[in-house]
Amino acid sequence: MLKGKVSLDVTNLDNFEYDMSKCIKCKGCTWVDHIYMPGMTFSTRCPSATRYLFDSYGAYGKMRIGTAMLEGRMEYSDELLKILYACTLCGACDVGCKRNLDLEIELTLEALRVKAVKDGKGPMPQHKKVARNIASQHNRLGSPHPNRNKWLPNDIKPAEKADVLYFVGCSAAYTSPEIAQATARILKASGTPFMLMPDEWCCGNVLYSVGMVDEARELAKRNVEEVRKTGAKTLLLSCAEGYRMWKVDYPKLLNISTEDLGFKVVHLVEFVDELIKQGALKLKKRVDLRLTYHDSCSLSRLSEPWKPWKGERGEWGMVSPRLERRRGANGVYQPPRDILQAIPGVELVEMIRMKENAFCCGAGRGTREAFPDFASWAAKERLQEVKAIGVKAIVSTCPWCKENFAQAASKDGEKLKVLDISEIILAAI
Ligand code: SF4
Ligand code: SF4
Repeated sequence: MLKGKVSLDVTNLDNFEYDMSKCIKCKGCTWVDHIYMPGMTFSTRCPSATRYLFDSYGAYGKMRIGTAMLEGRMEYSDELLKILYACTLCGACDVGCKRNLDLEIELTLEALRVKAVKDGKGPMPQHKKVARNIASQHNRLGSPHPNRNKWLPNDIKPAEKADVLYFVGCSAAYTSPEIAQATARILKASGTPFMLMPDEWCCGNVLYSVGMVDEARELAKRNVEEVRKTGAKTLLLSCAEGYRMWKVDYPKLLNISTEDLGFKVVHLVEFVDELIKQGALKLKKRVDLRLTYHDSCSLSRLSEPWKPWKGERGEWGMVSPRLERRRGANGVYQPPRDILQAIPGVELVEMIRMKENAFCCGAGRGTREAFPDFASWAAKERLQEVKAIGVKAIVSTCPWCKENFAQAASKDGEKLKVLDISEIILAAI
């Protein structure tokens, strides 16, 4: 709506007509903020526009496509679906745009996918396979559901009842068990009793991300209800994608605020940072490593809490009541850095693109399933930046990032260590 009633509901593209029509093609969504940019190398923030080098792939292109779709001037085609889905929904464009204009770019990109699904054209065939896997085995990979807790080592006994519930997620449960094991061992070492879900199912991140909102909402209802029944006060995650899903997208789907979930959603790095600061966990062992830290999009610029909003837009785009914009500045940036710097022997070297300006690894939000070459290209781009600062390891906070970087590094014969932060924390205990 250009004027009149409007909300942030992504199930109706009309809500973002103003945002799409006011894009001035300044490309602040593509370039890293100039004040942070030391030169032309590593100066772009949008993986999609950088890879495909054609305006339609940038946020500015997708804003114009959305306007044309609303006006009935554009038909679906294979190329159009590629433009909508060969995008990591990483949010870099959103924070870039909001430096100037406060347009809701990320929500518009989500709404475009929801519309594509509603119109019977989206998502991509590989996403439909993920949806079938989730429906039959409750995990995105289609692995047998009874194997979900196989990662659990014999010496770790989760409690029947505890304040902390560790939601493992499909990736750590099936493909990156070392992350789940390290997390459980860190909790044990800090004397934190924790429980698991009585019957853990996928969080539905891919479903939401590709626009399958009805299926994602059903999972959100089921999962939130299951956690509420356990009485847990804290839901702990070691996966950035899952963290964003629980903290931001579940409230979005259920039309509630993050604070109304009934429990606190916390990533391992926030939990451990707090334990270190309270003196309840000491990282004493030396880990002699010069490393860099990769900000996973879903823990950083995409992780600000959700608050539903609806109101009116009047003259000059002014909205009332006041809308507190999510601009990415309040993501989880400092806790992982403080943890790494608390480990004796660790030398943390920052990449050029960091925090809100970080370049996405390319794996998440349905990208790797449908566009594996693009996902691998994005990871290699990021690894070039890692190479440029001369470190021996890259550390992230998400199994999706770890897997994607590890595969890209091994294909190139790189000697680089690719680690999840849980592994390095455990090594220091
Ligand atoms: S930063 Fe915003 S206004 Fe500028 S081109 Fe990108 S989407 Fe359009
Ligand atoms: S979400 Fe990321 S990949 Fe997609 S248009 Fe925005 S910056 Fe580019």
